[in-house]
Amino acid sequence: MKMKKELVLDIVCPYCHHSLMDEEVKIKGIASVGLNVRLEDNKKGKVHLCAAYECFDHQVDLPVADGEILGLCCPYCHKELLTSETCQVCGAPMADLSLSTGGFVRICSRFGCFNHFLSLEIPAV
Ligand SMILES: [Zn+2]
Ligand SMILES: [Zn+2]
Repeated sequence: MKMKKELVLDIVCPYCHHSLMDEEVKIKGIASVGLNVRLEDNKKGKVHLCAAYECFDHQVDLPVADGEILGLCCPYCHKELLTSETCQVCGAPMADLSLSTGGFVRICSRFGCFNHFLSLEIPAV
């Protein structure tokens, strides 16, 4: 049992600002981050990521090979969330997600890598 309070992220699309939180799919009892995913062979599906920061639990509704790059898209405006920024661990494109509170999270698009970083905007006083 961890006593530390987990940081739960409230993710929105960086383009259309629609909430990406999916109340219907819960991971660890909290609403997950729901994204559309397109695989290298053009198969489409859904991925749900745990919204707790530093938890890498996730669900994908189609078989994904380890090491495959996921084309992550917003389910509302269908924009690709991948950026030109690359993962420092594996070189795959990083996907950009915004936080409703300001700031952003970048996650590695390579399945099985899960390198990510969080940048919280500290509001100016
Ligand atoms: Zn969007
Ligand atoms: Zn990576």
